[in-house]
Amino acid sequence: MSDTILRKEPVAARAANMPDYGRTVAEFSWPAERAALAGLPDGGLNIAHEALDAQIAVRRGDVPALRWFGRDGTEITFTYDALSREANRFANVLRSLDVQPGDTVYSLLGRVPSLYFAALGTLKSGAVFCPMFSAFGPEPVQARMEIGSARVLVTTAALYRRKVSGIRDRLPDLAHVLLVDGEEEGCTALAPLMAAAGDAFRTAPTRPADPALLHFTSGTTGRPKGALHVHEAVVAHRATARFALDLRPGDIYWCTADPGWVTGTSYGIVAPLVIGVTMIVDEVEFDPDRWYDMLAREEVTVWYTAPTAIRMLMRAGAELIGKRRFPKLRFMASVGEPLNPEAVLWGQEVFGMPFHDNWWQTETGGIMIANYASMDVKPGSMGRPLPGIEAGIVEVTEAGVKELRKPQAIGELALRPGWPSMMRAYLHEEARYKKCFRDGWYLSGDLAMRDSDGYFWFVGRGDDVIKSAGHLIGPFEVESALIEHDAVAEVGVIGIPDETAGEIVKAYVALNKGYEPSEELERELLGHARKRLGPAVAPKEIVFRQNLPKTRSGKIMRRLLKARELGLPEGDISTLESDEK
Ligand code: ATP
Ligand code: MG
Repeated sequence: MSDTILRKEPVAARAANMPDYGRTVAEFSWPAERAALAGLPDGGLNIAHEALDAQIAVRRGDVPALRWFGRDGTEITFTYDALSREANRFANVLRSLDVQPGDTVYSLLGRVPSLYFAALGTLKSGAVFCPMFSAFGPEPVQARMEIGSARVLVTTAALYRRKVSGIRDRLPDLAHVLLVDGEEEGCTALAPLMAAAGDAFRTAPTRPADPALLHFTSGTTGRPKGALHVHEAVVAHRATARFALDLRPGDIYWCTADPGWVTGTSYGIVAPLVIGVTMIVDEVEFDPDRWYDMLAREEVTVWYTAPTAIRMLMRAGAELIGKRRFPKLRFMASVGEPLNPEAVLWGQEVFGMPFHDNWWQTETGGIMIANYASMDVKPGSMGRPLPGIEAGIVEVTEAGVKELRKPQAIGELALRPGWPSMMRAYLHEEARYKKCFRDGWYLSGDLAMRDSDGYFWFVGRGDDVIKSAGHLIGPFEVESALIEHDAVAEVGVIGIPDETAGEIVKAYVALNKGYEPSEELERELLGHARKRLGPAVAPKEIVFRQNLPKTRSGKIMRRLLKARELGLPEGDISTLESDEK
């Protein structure tokens, strides 16, 4: 835990959406948030209606909703009106195919406009949308479509050929494959259907508790789970984006996450549209130079990204920015993994503002703990619970769940259930779902602690925490200390069994440009860690790697480092990004 505090200027704090955290927490109510939405007749609620029709109703029809940047240099802007018409067409296409409310529509697409039309059109039609990451291989695609009984798949001819045609006969529920390009046997071209479909559609009369989105977890700790979310989630998407991302109409907003992961949908489609901003979508994968260009040229005001990307930008070196400047940039946030203090401070140095870390999960559907625009930032802390969210540190034993109220106590991070974007099921895994709830708490599976100012600090995933000679060691703390060293670009820390200590700490390190692995460097890093952490917590061993195994959503897979270390089975690696590069 570092002692640094980045103070917020009072003038800037007052200009934030939430100038006074304590006051908003005291005054906040979910029913009031729900009442602020347009809604459907008779208490109905529909995410796409809030994202499109409700925006057009308040004269945002001509405002750019989506600015898309294609791989081939194409740029297309869709206003709220235009996006709404495309979504309506897609909803009409589903209607013409007799897709019923509650049926599941999957996508297997890169970040192309059709993905956004399909997502919003599906929601409008009352069907359930499930986005899949386009880089998945056939097995993960099959597993996900089986679990959700996919009725429709929207994809490209090339992706269909490579990933779906071979498994099609194992998907009996899959009635329609709609191709956004090309032709394949057994598939239907989407373009003629869209052209023939009307561009008006009356939103299905969905209820707040009707299923809307199916999202699979990242698979960092094991087999991915299918978390089901309902239309009411939009209440949380809107509230949390206002508070935790400081989003407001007029913003140019860039969420770099792919909609194949929950962040790319909750905060890459729903929240920005519901607030009425212009969102940037880039088809191209991470590229430091292109990213700096995008931020500068498009005058991005709010940027939501992830620790891996930030660390890669750091690794590329700030010199790359050159003459580019970002005078319009107002707020930067990060999610998905713990954000090392080093990265928060790098933001301050390079962009004149810190990255604001926030914490949530596929299961929670929306941001739960965050650093706010108006609140001082303690680098390395996830911040404080969102208004309307009660978070606690708990100890779970056979006897039950006990809250640990004393500051600095380490325990499982838990939340009081009841917020609108909470998952309603792990599809077909009732027992696993039920296990998450106990004694009035939702148990996150992560370990954390709360300090005396109410800030939460991530310690590690329950499974990743190391027990060494009577100490409980969080990998994050060790990783953050090592990453402070100039040579270290990325690091994953695990515990390996040891006869005397129980477990010892071992670190896997990827080096920055200009550094080569050597025994001398290993000794230097061990010394640096010992100085920072003390001998009980510092790693005993360091090994160098070109790259660390990560999920496709960019999370370091510590369980895989450990399985490989111990020669154990690798388990489900369907979301692993190749780490042999
Ligand atoms: P799986 O549940 O399949 O193992 P996953 O937990 O990585 O995968 P997600 O729901 O995408 O799937 O990720 C949520 C998890 O990511 C959190 O439980 C936490 O461990 C980690 N995480 C997210 N944001 C943060 C953050 N700001 N700081 C620390 N950890 C974070
Ligand atoms: Mg998880």
